[in-house]
Amino acid sequence: MKYVDEFRDPEKARTLAKEIRDLVGRIERARRRPLQIMEVCGGHTHSIFRYGIQQMLPDEVEFVHGPGCPVCVLPMGRVDDCVALAERPEVIFTTFGDAMRVPGSKKSLLQAKADGADVRMVYSPLDALKLARENPGREVVFFGLGFETTMPSTAMTVLQAKAEGLRNFSLFCNHITIIPTIKAILDSPDMHLDGFLGPGHVSMVIGTRPYQFIARHYGKPITIAGFEPLDVLQAVWMVLRQIAEGRCEVENQYGRVVPEEGNAQALAAIHEVFELREFFEWRGLGSIDHSGVRIRDAYAEFDAERKFSVPNVRIADPKSCQCGEVLKGVIKPHECKVFGTACTPETPLGALMVSSEGACAAYYSYGRIELGSKHGRLQHGGPQRRINP
Ligand code: SF4
Repeated sequence: MKYVDEFRDPEKARTLAKEIRDLVGRIERARRRPLQIMEVCGGHTHSIFRYGIQQMLPDEVEFVHGPGCPVCVLPMGRVDDCVALAERPEVIFTTFGDAMRVPGSKKSLLQAKADGADVRMVYSPLDALKLARENPGREVVFFGLGFETTMPSTAMTVLQAKAEGLRNFSLFCNHITIIPTIKAILDSPDMHLDGFLGPGHVSMVIGTRPYQFIARHYGKPITIAGFEPLDVLQAVWMVLRQIAEGRCEVENQYGRVVPEEGNAQALAAIHEVFELREFFEWRGLGSIDHSGVRIRDAYAEFDAERKFSVPNVRIADPKSCQCGEVLKGVIKPHECKVFGTACTPETPLGALMVSSEGACAAYYSYGRIELGSKHGRLQHGGPQRRINP
């Protein structure tokens, strides 16, 4: 398959869906309860809803939407820290666009901008570096966010800033790591997962080997998956084939992008600039050991947390917000008490409603829920509509 149309071929999709149904018929445990497959990455969540993939699968297969949208797992306290930095008069605060609307305890970055803070949207950390060169009298702070997918470009930017001797550029580092997070999910007593779709973009950097523990120690199959509809269907088929054959392995459906050993250059840049934090706070999931990185001492001059004082206060999510339960797959997004009413993409209460990769935003944008149906599942994709659960 070379061209994008080939990854969306309806005939091939129907064939795969039939093979999935045949496989499910061979799995004994599927007769007792639905098989739960977690798609770790928010990009997969978006594809599943955008292309109506859940509707192509038999009732015995359920997706559990994982924590792989970095915007969605950003806790309120860190957003408050961003706002505090952005409101300093000397600071130009730069961020990717999808982080602008994440709610803090008082306001989002977008609201801070409306109130007069100098918040600017950038497409790359190098754009922030350019701003620093162009504004020597201001302090440019870049909001570093994301898993190992975006970590290399941030690390390279810090290396570039050091090479140029830039004194007015710094990074507010909120990068997170995928492996401890998956481990925390697997250790959660709430979870009853049967397998994983592994994240494609993160794996492009870290490779497939770091996932071995999922198969070896937890006895769960995992398939690294691409993002086109046939990628996702084929990866589901591969996970189910492992279950049917009693195997637990790391398989790679996204071989055209993901090498087994990852990207050595990207990993070297990450290792040079970052080190693991003892713990990092996740929205809805609490504190997870070694799940985030910070800037090494050798690059301390580029660390916004050391350069400026940030409040660093832990803020609990609003009581009505059930993002944590959705993130852990305990409830579906539409089962949250405020879904589609107090919480919509226009007025997000929780972060899962902010990014297009957030499970709640995907449900809201593409889903139509047939209440009372098996698993309360979405029946059809469709244009955005309001759903009153
Ligand atoms: S509907 Fe809103 S508050 Fe509820 S889980 Fe989704 S994002 Fe969180």
